[in-house]
Amino acid sequence: MNTQFPAERILLGPGPSPVSSRVLRAMAAPTLGHLDPQYLAIMDETCEMLRQVFQTKNPLTFPVSGTGMAGMECAAVNLIEPGDEVIVCVNGVFGGRMKDVMERCGATVHAIEAAWGDIFTFDQIAAALEQHPKTMLVGIVHAETSTGAHQPLEGLDKIVHAHDALLVVDAVTSLGGHELRVDDWGIDAIYSGTQKCLSCPPGLSPVSFSARSLARMDARTTKVQSWYLDISMLRKYYTGGGGGGRVYHHTAPINMTYALREALAIVLEEGLDNRVARHAKMHQRLRAGLEAMGLSYIPKHSLHTLNCIGIPEGANDAGVRKRLLDEYDIEIGAGLGVMAGKAWRIGLMGHGSTVRNVDLVLAALREILR
Ligand SMILES: *Cc1c(COP(=O)(O)O)cnc(C)c1O
Repeated sequence: MNTQFPAERILLGPGPSPVSSRVLRAMAAPTLGHLDPQYLAIMDETCEMLRQVFQTKNPLTFPVSGTGMAGMECAAVNLIEPGDEVIVCVNGVFGGRMKDVMERCGATVHAIEAAWGDIFTFDQIAAALEQHPKTMLVGIVHAETSTGAHQPLEGLDKIVHAHDALLVVDAVTSLGGHELRVDDWGIDAIYSGTQKCLSCPPGLSPVSFSARSLARMDARTTKVQSWYLDISMLRKYYTGGGGGGRVYHHTAPINMTYALREALAIVLEEGLDNRVARHAKMHQRLRAGLEAMGLSYIPKHSLHTLNCIGIPEGANDAGVRKRLLDEYDIEIGAGLGVMAGKAWRIGLMGHGSTVRNVDLVLAALREILR
């Protein structure tokens, strides 16, 4: 194995997605100190661009140090106090993880379930809120990467807020690929990741919290159990908020911030609407090609960013993926959780969602499956 020069793979799995050379070059800029005014200006600009991409005015919007799971933990540890009752919608691996993380925060989790590949109706969520009136938070996954299901969210805030609960959304595989309007959709806490539809290397988790969430954090009577992810301290550094100016908490991942800033610049240059339209179009192109080959989608409401298809009868799951990687330098994803051995997951995210990649993976699959 060559460990000195990593190959240039075509990353069409569930993440990481291909990273543009612009972003890689940005990462190679000189490392600044985390309190250098120049770096703080770069961070401020990055947070402002994140607000634009999240479509929010929330002052508390910043990149958490760590991958998407760190964002999930950050939302959970800051909003939940031991004994709180929450509802988590579980229709795949990531809903299951949200339940686990929230239980670790001491929450009593009422999990509601949908079959893998299915989505939740608002009626189902409303019924759960009626059944558990003390619920203070509803957690749901916008883009369930383990099944490829696309959960509608617009209007859900009316139901959740009528019960005085917070709406918490996992947008790891939708931010930068699907329509997502944090303020219009009344989302109170949201987290994403850099290495999916933003096409940046893994390492940061953009998050945003509404005024409602902030009020909830300010009303806590117990300390946040995680020191690293405690927003009462983090916000002093990232936003200068909470009084006392900007103070050191942990060393920000400086060069990762350069990468994210550049990746967000690329998103905003393309324009959010154009970007969403491109992801839709590439999904349709892939879908037409796969279905013409006799392959079928597992979810009824498929994401545009992640295509989850059943493995055809007689095909060797690992063998096909190995040939894609060895002969074509193409990575696709295996099935995850209950889908293991039953599904392939083809990601068309960010910089990877192109005509060239769609046609290449279709041609390679056609050749291998013949
Ligand atoms: C990838 C993913 C995560 C976890 O992100 P990491 O960057 O792997 O920590 C969480 N939720 C969803 C829906 C994801 O697709």
